[in-house]
Amino acid sequence: MKEFKAESKRLMELMINSIYTNKEIFLREIISNASDAIDKLHYKSLTDKKIKIKKSDFAIIIKADKDARTLTISDNGIGMTKDELETNLGTIAKSGSFDFKEQNKKKENIDIIGQFGVGFYSAFMVSDKVEVISKAFGSDDAYSWVSLGIEGYNIKKSNKKNYGTDIILTIKDDEEYNRYLEVDEIKSLVKKYSDYITYPIKIEVENNNKTELEIINSLVPLWKRNKNDISEEEYNTFYSDKFFDYEKPLSHIHTKAEGVLEYNSLIYIPSHASYDYYSKEYEKGLQLYSNGVLIMEKCSDLIPDYFSFVKGVVDSSDLSLNISREMLQQNRVLKTISNNIEKHIKNELISMQSERREDYLKFWDAFGLQIKAGIYNSFGMDKEKLQDLLMFYSSKEDKLVTLKEYFENNKEEKDMYYACGSSIDQIKSLPQVETMIEKDKDVLLCSNYLDEFVFKVIAKYEDKDFKNVCSDNIDLDTEEEKEELNTLNEESKDLLTIMKDELDVQEVKFTSRLKNHPVCLSTVGEISVEMEKTINAMPTDESINAQKVLEINSHHPIVKKLQDLYKNDKEELKKYSKVLYAQARLIEGLPIDNPTEITNLICDMLVK
Ligand code: ADP
Repeated sequence: MKEFKAESKRLMELMINSIYTNKEIFLREIISNASDAIDKLHYKSLTDKKIKIKKSDFAIIIKADKDARTLTISDNGIGMTKDELETNLGTIAKSGSFDFKEQNKKKENIDIIGQFGVGFYSAFMVSDKVEVISKAFGSDDAYSWVSLGIEGYNIKKSNKKNYGTDIILTIKDDEEYNRYLEVDEIKSLVKKYSDYITYPIKIEVENNNKTELEIINSLVPLWKRNKNDISEEEYNTFYSDKFFDYEKPLSHIHTKAEGVLEYNSLIYIPSHASYDYYSKEYEKGLQLYSNGVLIMEKCSDLIPDYFSFVKGVVDSSDLSLNISREMLQQNRVLKTISNNIEKHIKNELISMQSERREDYLKFWDAFGLQIKAGIYNSFGMDKEKLQDLLMFYSSKEDKLVTLKEYFENNKEEKDMYYACGSSIDQIKSLPQVETMIEKDKDVLLCSNYLDEFVFKVIAKYEDKDFKNVCSDNIDLDTEEEKEELNTLNEESKDLLTIMKDELDVQEVKFTSRLKNHPVCLSTVGEISVEMEKTINAMPTDESINAQKVLEINSHHPIVKKLQDLYKNDKEELKKYSKVLYAQARLIEGLPIDNPTEITNLICDMLVK
């Protein structure tokens, strides 16, 4: 006997002890494997003239034997060689091979099963013994793989005559499992989970003492059926079956194009990002069919990067089966389809945004970053397409709003105001932002590192500029106030110069934009503090420095103190400068280069 690989054992343990309540899905998994195996042979037969098999020859056949307690699922697909039996069934399959143990620590087991689809091993949820007898197409020998569960499996020669695979399950001897041997029950499970399978699924039934085969499924793939005849549940089941996501999708977009170009497409917008979505391993793409035959599992040319999260199928009779990847890229039919699909996705998202805001917020939470990256990566070229999908946190509304909503709500303002930081609360407490909020201004609070870059590439919304309330000059003062501030700055030139020379800043000045806080940090030039943080956090050698300005609240008692020190103790004034600057850096979330010196200075001041 051979042992299973460790991770397979682990998965099997879960299956056998069956913490997963939805055991009936084992049948769906086995049928889906059978259908894949037939797909492979069907495809071979279509592309290799020497192989003469008609589509109508293919079938999946189910037999239930109550006395022997066996349920057999047979297919005449591509089959498996001895080696394939070993590698495919001896180790946990690709769909599940994702760092299983790693995830296991963090999440509930149920989640894992839900997220990846359970595959072949789910048979052990309902069986004491699983036997797989298979003969690979074109091979002379057949083999049988048998396992009683976790301990391991045996492989021996078999005398199976025809190519294909028989899966023989010995159903657990317990009342709970009897239903899996009942013809009616099996029929209803097939209907429920596998109706869209494009090959006939037949079941052996007794009719007047004669054994007959009855077709259970309706054969026409879901995407080719009429929208009006498909229930929400059918759409959702199809989605979870095909894309191994057991959380309901947010939307489906089902289109049937007729005329010059004929195709059907069924696209889903998932409700959450898959575990690998934001990793390099993630491959975007839609399943591509030519008249019901799968020609490519992930056709990436069908969707742009910024919509890479969608799942779905495209089926066109205008594509040849033998088309290669390279040819597909040049393909006119494909280009037209992909343009249409892109429009459909955009429209669906916009309508979700206005009609189902709650769902849209889920979408935004999962994939907002991708949309932002889309705008940024295209240097703004795709902004027209994408900017209305963006959401930002409005300080006034206290929730996420679209740019359009912000624009409409603040028509009287000259500019679009935003502020950046690490969290909404932190940004709200920035002195400049606090002042804006007190003045009843609406500010977009941006806690994502891409936000500011996105504003930079969008540049304008309608006729308004984006202004960072922390770094840009925001003119809210009356003429009188401006005059007053100018005079103060003029009169304090020497004082401010002494302070500036002590610090690594472009300028030190008095400001009237602060209400209660003594100081804040602003910047001049293109680079803001948040951009400095983001770029310096990247794993390159590049480092940049925003040109900083230390602003001191002209209404704060500290002004008087600084003026006194200027007159009486210039050395002390320098120390104050350092402490005030450190304070401003801390508020912005910037590090302090000389913490020991600063803390000592503070302590000196405390004991005075
Ligand atoms: P998945 O189907 O997600 O790859 P499974 O654990 O269900 O994972 O199956 C493992 C592999 O075993 C399949 O990828 C396939 O190569 C092979 N296999 C399973 N059932 C069959 C079958 N009926 N005919 C041919 N190959 C099969």
